[in-house]
Amino acid sequence: MLRGRCIHRPPSNTAFRKDVIYMNNKWESYVRRVVPYTPGEQPQESGVIKLNTNENPYPPAPGVRRILDDFDCGRMRLYPTPDAAVLVNAIAETYGVKPSQVFVGVGSDDVIAMAFMTFFGSDKPVLFPDITYSFYDVWADVYRIPYETKSLREDFTINPDDYKCENGGIIFPNPNAPTGVLESVDMIEDIVRANPDSVVIIDEAYIDFGGESCLPLVEKYENLLVVQTFSKSRSMAGMRIGFAIGSEKLIKYMNDVKFSVNSYTMNTVTQLCGAEAVRDKAYFEETVGRIVSERERSKKRLAELGFTFTDSKSNFIFAKPERKTAQYVFEELKKRRIYVRFWNKPVISDYLRITVGTPEEMDALFAALEEIINE
Ligand code: PMP
Repeated sequence: MLRGRCIHRPPSNTAFRKDVIYMNNKWESYVRRVVPYTPGEQPQESGVIKLNTNENPYPPAPGVRRILDDFDCGRMRLYPTPDAAVLVNAIAETYGVKPSQVFVGVGSDDVIAMAFMTFFGSDKPVLFPDITYSFYDVWADVYRIPYETKSLREDFTINPDDYKCENGGIIFPNPNAPTGVLESVDMIEDIVRANPDSVVIIDEAYIDFGGESCLPLVEKYENLLVVQTFSKSRSMAGMRIGFAIGSEKLIKYMNDVKFSVNSYTMNTVTQLCGAEAVRDKAYFEETVGRIVSERERSKKRLAELGFTFTDSKSNFIFAKPERKTAQYVFEELKKRRIYVRFWNKPVISDYLRITVGTPEEMDALFAALEEIINE
């Protein structure tokens, strides 16, 4: 898995101008063009088993239902509270930090996009792994941020030494996506300690499924930002809630940028539902526990079916079929209305990313896999 060093620089104006010859209108040469991120499919028909976008198979905390039932639609006349105080306070209380250390956004995609815009303003490249969340390079491109990808090791782990060179910032998910591989807090601290001159962002979208969060480190390192989401462990992907916790200084800088773009990003209903959800610790622990035990059972079944996989600590399994190609299995599953994720990209094209669903959904998947693999 030897992959070369790869620095990406934003296209210069001259490069853009050359494109003019292919265009009918001069104004098109001034367009901010970018190759967009491709989100996972959201099939709308019923009867589909959807294991392709790492959603939680269980409903959100029961209190969310109560908020929706009791909500007075008259409040929709008014703009939402711009600082989303009710949600910020609930998150601060849950994680034992000050409200001034919490930033909320419309999903962690919004939070991370805002963090790219706020913190990655250097001419030096931002560093992230070559196999990782495929939105990072898109944000870098759209904001014209130079970046350099660092190859993962053979076993998909991160080599901390790769992140000890001059850089304009660092970001990676822990556990990583789509591999599910978890890095230790000690290793992350090693990277943060070596980088006092840039902001380090740890994207903990999947941390609740068995990982140790590096949140305690934010009290020690002013330049560390930890991002989490309500989309996975709190079953609220459709509500769009993400948050970042960091030093008061980092959060202030982010809010300054956010309020310079759009003050009213998060609607009132979402703020209330999010606050209710984050307070229900018992429900959170119960549903996360169910997903973790189903993940471990699924690993055993996948091994029996001849798959190899990383020791995922997230709510998905990154698995490689033995007798058939990943693309073939992906397409055959789809014919049976079972959706998993497949990327036709170097290295990862041998793998499928399978979200952990309910035991019933997983049993249906295993029955289909058995059929496909033994065909
Ligand atoms: N980070 C990672 C690593 C992810 O996989 C995702 C989900 N696509 C996100 C961030 C964004 O999730 P959301 O915007 O739903 O919070």
